[in-house]
Amino acid sequence: MPATIALTPKKLLRTGRSVWADAPHPQLSTHALKKSIRCDVVIVGAGISGGFMAHALSRHYDDVVVLDRRAPAMGSTHASTAMLQFEIDTPLTQLSGQIGHPKAARAWKRSFRSTQQLIAMIRAEKIPCSLGERAALYLAGNEMGGRGLKAEASSRSRAGLECEFLDARTLAARYGIARTGAILSGGAAVADPVALARGLLRKARGQGARLYAPCNVTGVMATRRGVMLKAGDHFIEARHAVFCTGYEVMKGMPSKGLTITSSWAAATAPHADYPHWLDHTLVWEASTPYLYMRTGAQRQLIVGGEDAQLDSPSYRAGTLTLKSRKLAEKTRRLLPGLQPRWTHVWAGAFGESDDGLPVIDAVPGMPHCFTVMGFGGNGTIYSMIASQLMPGLLKGRPARDAELFRFR
Ligand SMILES: Cc1cc2nc3c(=O)[nH]c(=O)nc-3n(C[C@H](O)[C@H](O)[C@H](O)COP(=O)(O)OP(=O)(O)OC[C@H]3O[C@@H](n4cnc5c(N)ncnc54)[C@H](O)[C@@H]3O)c2cc1C
Repeated sequence: MPATIALTPKKLLRTGRSVWADAPHPQLSTHALKKSIRCDVVIVGAGISGGFMAHALSRHYDDVVVLDRRAPAMGSTHASTAMLQFEIDTPLTQLSGQIGHPKAARAWKRSFRSTQQLIAMIRAEKIPCSLGERAALYLAGNEMGGRGLKAEASSRSRAGLECEFLDARTLAARYGIARTGAILSGGAAVADPVALARGLLRKARGQGARLYAPCNVTGVMATRRGVMLKAGDHFIEARHAVFCTGYEVMKGMPSKGLTITSSWAAATAPHADYPHWLDHTLVWEASTPYLYMRTGAQRQLIVGGEDAQLDSPSYRAGTLTLKSRKLAEKTRRLLPGLQPRWTHVWAGAFGESDDGLPVIDAVPGMPHCFTVMGFGGNGTIYSMIASQLMPGLLKGRPARDAELFRFR
């Protein structure tokens, strides 16, 4: 018997004006779907996850189709501050307590490897997305103080992940920051997420993929022989379907350990005043709610955080001013002397998982259907990992790391 379920309810994913709204982006032309089609693999979603997926799968399959009800990269991807970090939201010491040290260390190392591969791939493919390599400074906060961070740094070093623990005195001397400690590590990066997603889709198209938008997928039917999607009056018949629908999650999907929350961000005009070391170092902290910051290609200061545990577009919109004031206040407190003036303030839905890891797995009860739920602060890296694991999953030969990212 074929399994059928309704698809993803549409949400207001973002509010306010993100810093990428004013960045110059080359257009990516799309077409409406005017007839029913057949393909090898259909990818639903043309955000950063769909972009990585299309880029990877169009190297393995002749006929890949990408569908989106919005223009490419106009969902959550447009809200991302695009810190490309291998550091998982859940510290290695804590994740070891949750899933055991061997698996936790494997997840952290996989994240590190995939981040380096992502950076190398963007360079090799020459995707113009303002890529900049960065160090990452993880500050002590209300969730973990200097002593906890020292233990975390030792645990990472033992796992083979190079990092340096900075005590309070060293942190103050090098960065002028008054906290009880920090971990400094290399191997992070920043980018323009809209340019990156569209660049990946453009490359995928160069490899033969077809992109249809706007195209709203309203139904899916999966059988042992393949998958049939419904979009308006047309059908898309495929051997496999990969759902990269972000925080518009398919109805009926298992949701254990997954929560959709809200997150805020703000940016200054170009050529902002900030310490020069921020141009090669991104900053985040072991706090709830947390603060993080990076700089942009035009020397904007981009700051985010203030997460709240509810997914409400009206709450996000109603608190934009308040949250942006809090972000400015926290920035001033962290870096005394700074007076950030925001020109862009925005908020969006954000996904979290109990262990900080994504779900990259087959959809239960739906043969040939797979999903990517890159929940967590490093959604972009998880999209990359998903695109690396998916060819094996589609062939029924999952790589060893795939077991780390199954439905819990
Ligand atoms: C303020 C903020 C800051 C963030 N900062 C970072 C950061 O620094 N680093 C980081 O890695 N992540 C960050 N994130 C998270 C990041 O934005 C997400 O992980 C990422 O954008 C998710 O990408 P996606 O492609 O899965 O989703 P999306 O970009 O939302 O793409 C999914 C697409 O699927 C389409 N779709 C859904 N259902 C259907 C359907 N039925 N038919 C057709 N199309 C459909 C949607 O239209 C959408 O375009 C941040 C998020 C917020 C809100």
